[in-house]
Amino acid sequence: MKVGIMGGTFDPLHIGHMMAAEAARYTYGLDEVWFMPSHIPPHKHEAGVSGADRLAMVLETLRAHDSFRTLDWEITRGGVSYTIDTVRELKEKYPLFDFYFIIGADMVQNLPEWHGIEELVQSLTFIGVGRPGTPLDLEALPGFIAEKVLLADMPLVDISSTMLKERIAEGKSIRYMVPDAVFDYVQRSGLYGI
Ligand code: ATP
Ligand code: MG
Repeated sequence: MKVGIMGGTFDPLHIGHMMAAEAARYTYGLDEVWFMPSHIPPHKHEAGVSGADRLAMVLETLRAHDSFRTLDWEITRGGVSYTIDTVRELKEKYPLFDFYFIIGADMVQNLPEWHGIEELVQSLTFIGVGRPGTPLDLEALPGFIAEKVLLADMPLVDISSTMLKERIAEGKSIRYMVPDAVFDYVQRSGLYGI
């Protein structure tokens, strides 16, 4: 089994996340992609809305996808979510699987600062996708990291969760920038003050 892990805050989940997962899946023949909402990511203070809401938006969106699944471990564990802790658990539970971790260009650039990066590059392969505003430059990375990063091509998507929340605050529509299930969920529960 080749499994891609799509980690993120997903506050909210948007089409940039979906396209990144799909680009990685078909480019490298992944059997499945597991979306893993983090509880509190190390590089952010706290997510804006509850883990339960962020998880629910992912679950409702992925229900319609055969090869996309939801992994709720980090939300269930609570606290700050370090990828290395989760990856150790994944390797223990699924020792025969090949894991790939899917990230956008901004995260590729940050890889040297990731907690436990030396162990991470031994345990899995990263798949990086482009994102506007950050060059996807593997030459800027230390060699031991760069050799464990594959690239997947996708059209650049100039959407971020932060930008979507700003749009909502300004009274602008986010429809079609997020999966329909996310749009419905946000409307229904009045999330982000919509
Ligand atoms: P925020 O504004 O809160 O940081 P975000 O849009 O960056 O939100 P995250 O949940 O932080 O979303 O990102 C999860 C993963 O998805 C990261 O690896 C990030 O690089 C990637 N990603 C997010 N948006 C895009 C996009 N538009 N194109 C490609 N990758 C993306
Ligand atoms: Mg981000």
